[in-house]
Amino acid sequence: PATWLVYCRQGFERDALAELEYYAAQCDACVQGHAGEGWASVARTDGETINALQRAVPFARLVFARQSLVALPTLTLSREDRLGAIARQVVEAGWSFESIWHETPDTNEGKALGRLAKALTRPLQSTLKKNGALRRKAGGRRLHLLWLSGDQVQLGMSFPGNRSELVGGIRRLRSPSRAPSRSTLKLEEAWHEFVPRDEWDVRLAEGMQAADLGAAPGGWTWQLVQRGMHVYAIDNGPMNKALMATGQVDHLAEDGFIWEPPQRLDWLVCDIVDKPARVLAMMERWLVRRWCREAVFNLKLPMKKRWEEVQRGLSELEHALDQAGVKATVACRHLYHDREEVTVHVRLTDRF
Ligand code: SAM
Repeated sequence: PATWLVYCRQGFERDALAELEYYAAQCDACVQGHAGEGWASVARTDGETINALQRAVPFARLVFARQSLVALPTLTLSREDRLGAIARQVVEAGWSFESIWHETPDTNEGKALGRLAKALTRPLQSTLKKNGALRRKAGGRRLHLLWLSGDQVQLGMSFPGNRSELVGGIRRLRSPSRAPSRSTLKLEEAWHEFVPRDEWDVRLAEGMQAADLGAAPGGWTWQLVQRGMHVYAIDNGPMNKALMATGQVDHLAEDGFIWEPPQRLDWLVCDIVDKPARVLAMMERWLVRRWCREAVFNLKLPMKKRWEEVQRGLSELEHALDQAGVKATVACRHLYHDREEVTVHVRLTDRF
């Protein structure tokens, strides 16, 4: 049967699967799960089609999934007839689409498979064009070929408005050479993820006031400074000298869990390594008091059941904000530059 297939970071397949199973249960769907390498999937065991379930869960709600697809059973290809087998499965499924992406799991083995996909691109395009599957107007749908090995491929379909528009669901960013640390990319990726590009000039604007808790050596502060903001950098550790020389940073050697801002701020960011519950309690205090308009923070997840931890933490935060009458949007993703952590974004949506 068809499955709901998601890509994820290697080592996080069980978390991605737990997440799919959670939403399946919420939708009263009986499913059978499968965790691969760099991907996870569920198939329905109740005779219903998988499409409705995949559609019911907005991609933006998913934390560990990098891509969300409706997929067909894995094909094992013979060397002589690779194209024929792929085309037959597409036609039998009645699929049509406007574009084709070749992808591989984000694993070492996956990387080696890229060349094979490249060689097949042209011939596959013309075959699928000839039988009418690949065409101009097909509702923006896209065919994904996930190459699991040299002779194994899984065909998936993505739908506009409910998918990642990035190949492999991965946002590759160039590491800025002048930034004080590589973790600077986590905040940059978070902004790409959570703030639409055409809103950067108003939501990440020059002259804004921000705080960075656990700021040293300053990778995140550097991003805020690049946007022209003034930053309270809270950390006992030393800050990068060139960053301090911009004059846009107040370095305060204080405890980020206790420090209170002198006035309301536009942004709060926090990369302190501590228990998720402790970070969430601190964030809740900030948001309920409306000390910041938007926040990006990390939840470190060294534990086994990461999805359960994230799900519980976020729903408690949402509940607390609701109780306090604070209107906000909460989003969370396991970003490409995140390792054993996820990134949360909160934005207050009422005026203050
Ligand atoms: N985001 C930073 C960057 O891009 O350079 C890296 C932050 S590092 C992962 C975590 C920092 O949190 C450390 O510098 C540590 O000193 C600081 N830290 C840990 N506990 C803290 C606390 N209670 N208050 C303030 N800073 C804390």
